Amino acid sequence: MTLDIATSLIHHPYRPPADFDAPQPGVHKASTVFFPNVAALEAREWRDKSGYTYGLHGTPTTFILEERLATLEGGLQCLLVPSGLAAIACVSLSLLQAGDEVLLPDNVYGPSKALAEAELKALGIGWRLYDAMDPASLEAALSERTRLVWLEAAGSVTMEFPDLPRLAAICRARGVLSALDNTWGAGLAFDPFRLDEAGQGVDLTIHALTKYPSGGGDVLMGSIVTRDEALHMRLKMTHMRLGIGVGANDTEAVLRSLPSIALRYDAQDAAARVLAGWLTDRPEVAAVLHPALAGSPGHAHWQALCGARDRAAGIFSLVFQPSFSRAQVHAFCDALRLFRIGYSWGGPISLVVPYDISGMRDPGVTRWSHPGTLVRLCIGLESVEDLRLDLAQALATLAPKR
Ligand SMILES: *Cc1c(COP(=O)(O)O)cnc(C)c1O
Repeated sequence: MTLDIATSLIHHPYRPPADFDAPQPGVHKASTVFFPNVAALEAREWRDKSGYTYGLHGTPTTFILEERLATLEGGLQCLLVPSGLAAIACVSLSLLQAGDEVLLPDNVYGPSKALAEAELKALGIGWRLYDAMDPASLEAALSERTRLVWLEAAGSVTMEFPDLPRLAAICRARGVLSALDNTWGAGLAFDPFRLDEAGQGVDLTIHALTKYPSGGGDVLMGSIVTRDEALHMRLKMTHMRLGIGVGANDTEAVLRSLPSIALRYDAQDAAARVLAGWLTDRPEVAAVLHPALAGSPGHAHWQALCGARDRAAGIFSLVFQPSFSRAQVHAFCDALRLFRIGYSWGGPISLVVPYDISGMRDPGVTRWSHPGTLVRLCIGLESVEDLRLDLAQALATLAPKR
């Protein structure tokens, strides 16, 4: 059969040999995956990694990233989703049904509360807040209906580090699944599946790959890691039914950054601690909230869990003296030149965001004692001295003009 050029460009005979090997894995893009015949189509198992069925069920590119992330977090199975928040939603929608209750720490990643208040509530799923710094508060919030407890370390924006091994143990003792938002620890600061000496940990982790694994501020992705095949399959079925797969180019971007994650994590950690320490001594600053800093909320828990590896994420918050108005603190943020105003973290560029904590915490659950305005800093990969000088010049704009 002589084919038209349009057809021969598509049905082309050249096939690359299978032995190509190079530092970066290939970018396999597919919605459709071919089967050699109908028997193979009917026999194909899509639930494990024994074959390829459809792009949504995985490609060589996504399977490689899944395996590497499971290794990073000390798990055995991994699912990829289009964002960190999609990972949170997938877990809650998979493991909860009408009549169940889910518990969230009051200092949880904010949009997680919004999901509970809107979609979960509309499905008849109840939710309650607990104080992550008070294990008795978790005990009291657990009920016959609790099916899932979310954990986060350090807490969002206010950076409290909870007694994670104890909180996970409370969930285990009550037979309730525990899910950790592991974005801060990133699989590097501590082992979420082995939190105590008995080698026990949480049941699953989610990770906003958007942060450290991407490292570029240019990709949105999330993961769900487990160590239990049955739990993984429950999550995988929901993942499949919701149709929340990831694109090959985004996957490749994360694979490209992953080999340097420990170097970047440690560099941003070291720079953040220098700047946090320096800010502690500044008269404009009432408090620096960084779990590796003595005096920060939960420092002893950080020390117990992460002290041996001496690792913390390069993100922390400072609270200004209450004598500075909100407008003055906003002017400080605007005066920064290297720190850009924007959400997220773990990328090359340092970021700043002011927060009004009063509207973010339930006064019946958390006692927030700082009257001043809070600013969160995410440290990038710039020279730490340049960042310090930038903070200094912006702080100088707060001084009364003579
Ligand atoms: C950013 C973040 C998320 C959400 O990740 P997205 O990819 O932005 O949806 C969840 N949890 C934590 C702790 C985060 O920092």
